[in-house]
Amino acid sequence: MSANLTSQPGVRLEVRSLCKSYAGQAALKGIDLDIDAGEIFVIMGPSGSGKSVLLKHMIGLEKPDSGDIFIEGKSILNGEDVANRFRLAMVFQSGALFNSLTVGENVSLYLTEHRLKPPGEIPRIVAEKLATVGLQGVENKYPSELSGGMKKRVAIARALVADPQLILYDEPTSELDPMIAITIAEEILRLNHRTGVTSVVVTHDRELGFGIAHRIGMIGDGRILATGTPAQIKASTDPLIQKFLKAEYHSNQNSNSHLERQTV
Ligand code: ADP
Ligand code: MG
Repeated sequence: MSANLTSQPGVRLEVRSLCKSYAGQAALKGIDLDIDAGEIFVIMGPSGSGKSVLLKHMIGLEKPDSGDIFIEGKSILNGEDVANRFRLAMVFQSGALFNSLTVGENVSLYLTEHRLKPPGEIPRIVAEKLATVGLQGVENKYPSELSGGMKKRVAIARALVADPQLILYDEPTSELDPMIAITIAEEILRLNHRTGVTSVVVTHDRELGFGIAHRIGMIGDGRILATGTPAQIKASTDPLIQKFLKAEYHSNQNSNSHLERQTV
């Protein structure tokens, strides 16, 4: 029984007819997605297409106007206590580290707040999670003393203390230079491979998306335009998808400068 849990801890996720408007403006216009247990599913699309809003719904930070999301068949809206039944974690775009806390305190926050482990065990767990993302001996540093790539790793380590069955990453490579972005992509792959955690990655970075995805859902203007393997998406004849794949990001003033590199 537990062997099965260990080999396949990832959970299945279904999004059904999800709609959300802000002040009369539709951000999500009926999203349907099926994400398999243990896969890396990348939601890719341009800035403002609804990626972050969709991710926030998946972890219950936003409530839809209509539609629902199911984790292992359990509705996250209908009081099935999904938050306590399943272990979900999100790596926010900004990292969202607390600047007044040390790295060690940031990483252990979830464990100490929920009193999940005896205090004596916490330093070992923190060191283990930091080592998982390639960091050692940084427990006593403050976030302001770290580089952008290290902060992102600490944010991932913090998400890992919950031993998640579903991990959501919002633009994990934004604000990072290309070489560091590659190491973060490798980290996402390695964690998925090693733990089997279902990984949902939201990005407008095509190199990242095509590099790590088992499957991709292309999103445009609050709708899923297509889902498929990277090869299937590349072969799509949908004009919006073609436009996104060929877009020159440096002409988009909303994009970050690191995306000026051309990847497709
Ligand atoms: P992205 O694909 O860049 O992550 P978002 O999901 O953040 O896009 O946003 C999709 C749309 O929803 C945008 O037009 C954005 O302005 C709008 N939006 C998102 N969150 C809010 C909010 N809390 N209040 C009002 N509008 C919002
Ligand atoms: Mg976003």
